[in-house]
Amino acid sequence: MGEKLRDTFGRTFPYIRLSITDVCNFKCGYCLPNGYFKPNNHPGFLNISEIENLVNGLSDLGVSKIRVTGGEPTVRKDFFDVMKLIKSKSGIKKLVVTTNGYKLNQLTDKFLDTGVDGINISIDTLNRSKFKEITGHDRLPEILEGIKILQDKGFKNIKVNAVLLRDINDNQEEFDAWSEFINQNDISFRYIELMQTGDNLDYFKKYHQSAKVFREYIETKGWKNVDRALDDGPALNYKNENLKGQFGVIAPYSKDFCKTCNRLRITAKGELRLCLFGNTGTDLRKYLQDPKQKDELVDLILTQLRFKKESHYLELGNTGITPHLASVGG
Ligand code: SAM
Ligand code: SF4
Repeated sequence: MGEKLRDTFGRTFPYIRLSITDVCNFKCGYCLPNGYFKPNNHPGFLNISEIENLVNGLSDLGVSKIRVTGGEPTVRKDFFDVMKLIKSKSGIKKLVVTTNGYKLNQLTDKFLDTGVDGINISIDTLNRSKFKEITGHDRLPEILEGIKILQDKGFKNIKVNAVLLRDINDNQEEFDAWSEFINQNDISFRYIELMQTGDNLDYFKKYHQSAKVFREYIETKGWKNVDRALDDGPALNYKNENLKGQFGVIAPYSKDFCKTCNRLRITAKGELRLCLFGNTGTDLRKYLQDPKQKDELVDLILTQLRFKKESHYLELGNTGITPHLASVGG
């Protein structure tokens, strides 16, 4: 799986995160607190034929899993067409998506119709007023209803992610609420440690909390660390024999986080990013204009992979060229 895509540290990359837009309809405090603004001279996001050429090249490189992300991927008018197109490629065994769940209760049939294999939904808290405060939108009920509808229709692979935020959702009441939620719904839930990006230093200083507080909570409640699946990447997963569901932690500031990195990112404008916090991107777009350019595309990606560094050096405050995660596909 992904063997052709191997870096100089022996890490392989069966998994690509593909952003299809930087636009978002939420205003999460740590990401786009003032919403999305289109810059001048915007080249536009990859169109569906550029995406098709890209996915064909990635397939040739042994990529078998694609996560579609953004910005908010569902804001694209052709979002469901893009999903169906990727799913139609025989090399892509797993198509997954990360969404904020906007209008999820109205979109479940459309999601299922794409053949999507997994849906990650970002919900920072189950407390409605806090959710509104964090995202700028009072939409928690429709997201939770959407999850229920998907499950009632037999769709199992739903994961919920939350960013851990000091004095907002880092307390026992919040952790207990998630424990009950995942047990009732048999869902996997993960906290992601807040990451510093180019734009959010003040927010980061105020709200960053170590994932240790959550790990300590779950360890005292009898959750046990389980082995990670090959395509899990740097998440630590926990199970509890008395409860359904799974907890997880993504702690980018922890020692050895980068050792298990299996992620490459491609931005909505067609730049390959070797690391979320790297200092350069490689423009693939010029090789996405014609299916005949596939070999050149493949060669370029292989060459670039040799430059993937061992670590992000985020702990040194090095945020690279990422102003916020909506710009690179978090
Ligand atoms: N809009 C979609 C969503 O929110 O799920 C997809 C894109 S969003 C950039 C992907 C994930 O990145 C979300 O789970 C979000 O919470 C997370 N994220 C955004 N900024 C972050 C930051 N500074 N640190 C940690 N996670 C972040
Ligand atoms: Fe939008 Fe996702 Fe960023 Fe929130 S985290 S502002 S939903 S892109």
